[in-house]
Amino acid sequence: MARYTDSVCRQCRREGEKLFLKGDRCYSEKCAVTRKAYAPGAHGQGRKQKPSEYGIQLREKQKTRRIYGLLEKQFRNYFKKADRQQGITGENLLILLERRLDNIVYRMGLAASRKEARQLVTHGHFTLNGKKANIPSILTKVGDVIQVKEGSRSSYKFQDLKEQAAYKTPPEWLSVDVENMTGTLLAYPLREQIDTLVNEQLIVELYSR
Ligand code: SF4
Repeated sequence: MARYTDSVCRQCRREGEKLFLKGDRCYSEKCAVTRKAYAPGAHGQGRKQKPSEYGIQLREKQKTRRIYGLLEKQFRNYFKKADRQQGITGENLLILLERRLDNIVYRMGLAASRKEARQLVTHGHFTLNGKKANIPSILTKVGDVIQVKEGSRSSYKFQDLKEQAAYKTPPEWLSVDVENMTGTLLAYPLREQIDTLVNEQLIVELYSR
């Protein structure tokens, strides 16, 4: 499976804003967007042109894709799926992205970033409805129970993550039992319950060209 291997901070600098891809570092003075407030690469500090309508739509799509850590093809597949569903395509898209297992782990507060959540899932630390689940893209359903595998719970890593999770507030559509490192999907999120700062309509416009 192909994946992005370059510095994720470059992605934030490209978008010109914090995408919070690295956990604690994103809230510190070490954040690259704070230290180098210009696009990466040789021409990053060059004269800025007014972006075209297409350019604005493209950047919004790239930003969203990067926040959820997806490659173009994966992201477009989510869009196609969202487009086939009833309702507002842009909202459907965000709901699908939120339902991914790695995102649920992140929303449970058991990972500092979606990237870390993805890694923890891939390494087999989670179960879904009692069964081993090591595929980050699994789409969870209402009523699904996501839990840290019994053998992993006492590890130093998860004890540390549990401590941190206790200070985080999960979204209202997800019930979290931090002590037992368990989450239950109560409902699919409404758009207003998703705090990802993107304008999904611009993505719809881009893919509708
Ligand atoms: Fe983005 Fe976080 Fe890196 Fe800052 S530290 S540039 S917010 S990934």
